[in-house]
Amino acid sequence: MQFAFDPIPTPSLAIQGSDLRYPVRRIFCVGRNYADHALEMGGDPNREPPFFFTKPADAILESGSEMTYPKLTEKLHHELELVIAIGKGGDNISKDKAREHIFGYAIGIDMTRRDLQDEAKQTRRPWDSGKAFDQSAPCGPITPADQLAHPDDLQISLTVNGDVRQSSSTNRLIWTIDEIIEHLSHSFTLAPGDLIYSGTPAGVGPLVPGDHVVATAEGLETLEITITG
Ligand code: MN
Repeated sequence: MQFAFDPIPTPSLAIQGSDLRYPVRRIFCVGRNYADHALEMGGDPNREPPFFFTKPADAILESGSEMTYPKLTEKLHHELELVIAIGKGGDNISKDKAREHIFGYAIGIDMTRRDLQDEAKQTRRPWDSGKAFDQSAPCGPITPADQLAHPDDLQISLTVNGDVRQSSSTNRLIWTIDEIIEHLSHSFTLAPGDLIYSGTPAGVGPLVPGDHVVATAEGLETLEITITG
């Protein structure tokens, strides 16, 4: 088989302690999964079933990269999130079997063109323009699951130019890691290479060219991104 032009290289992430790379297939994101963030967005922090949106796999941006301030927005926002990397596919996965499907974890940022997302909400249009743009999924290296002791009680934080903007723990997720996988796998057949951004705590806010953004989580490799004009 010959392609009419070269297909894009498979998007991938580094794996801590390995020369192998993690090939990214799809990027799923959970909406509104911390009560304090649901409140800051004017929502209701109850346990309504989780909802999901997606980004293209090549929206991945590795640590150490520069992110070009995106087009068409005046309100680029950071959303700090624990990322779950799927290693074994399946559907209708029950929460007590969910861990068997996890390859590892990383810290990531769900970059958002908030003005375009707000407009989409108001006009009841899809969120793609607000969420699924180029370079919208910075993600740190993946730490294999067996090297992370407590993914359900992980301190996560994000600083911009050294100032703490977001700080929380994954023990405050409305839907736990296992429940996210259970819900998502009832809607999609999960496959190795699928990443799941698990939702952001409060403190989302604007980024401008020149900002140096650092996302950390206990036991995970750091993610650092610089915004350029
Ligand atoms: Mn998010």
